[in-house]
Amino acid sequence: MIVTKQKDLESIICLIQKDPVFIVGCSQCATLCKTGGEDEIKKMVSILKVKNINVTGWVLLDPACHLLNDKRILKSYKDKIKKAKKVLVLACGNGVQTVAEIIDNAEVIPGLDTLFLGEIKSVKEFEKRCNLCGECIQYLFDGLCPISRCPKNMLNGPCGGSKNGKCEVSKDLDCIWEIIINKLDKKKKLFLLKRIVEPKDWSKSLVMKR
Ligand code: SF4
Ligand code: SF4
Repeated sequence: MIVTKQKDLESIICLIQKDPVFIVGCSQCATLCKTGGEDEIKKMVSILKVKNINVTGWVLLDPACHLLNDKRILKSYKDKIKKAKKVLVLACGNGVQTVAEIIDNAEVIPGLDTLFLGEIKSVKEFEKRCNLCGECIQYLFDGLCPISRCPKNMLNGPCGGSKNGKCEVSKDLDCIWEIIINKLDKKKKLFLLKRIVEPKDWSKSLVMKR
């Protein structure tokens, strides 16, 4: 899932200024993150109304990153979108750009910041699981990814700084290298860590190229 957080209200209002706005949300990742689902859209509508900002309408896309669906749905909202000078998109960066491909009369502005591809731990608790490196090498680490889960991106860890299973960079993080070692130890496969993992070929990552 793509993990997002809502921009602070002041920045959103600063981007909208006093212009009439149409709001778009996303029924999937942003709904799960509680950043751009129906509840968050309705909350945003009330807040903007209190600030005397005209909300011309809103829609929840299913999902916001589906161009063909979005075209069809947004077409049925064209009168409301026509009245807006801004379209506030409460979806990930991909959703924002999909909506921007369709809207031709109003300025499209993002209401969320896109953080990472992550796993849902519990409500509103997400952990990074993938940096979109372009060549998945989790087979080297028994299905775990130190690139996304070790703040030092160590391929030949551990760094030696972990304490009580926690990462020295952030106490909120479990040291992924300790987890890898314990997992391999349990399976009697620690010998797999004897090899030196070569630096990654980052030219394969589209994220790094663009
Ligand atoms: S190795 Fe690369 S593709 Fe695989 S999970 Fe880690 S960052 Fe993602
Ligand atoms: S303590 Fe573990 S997770 Fe943290 S930087 Fe060192 S090896 Fe990486």
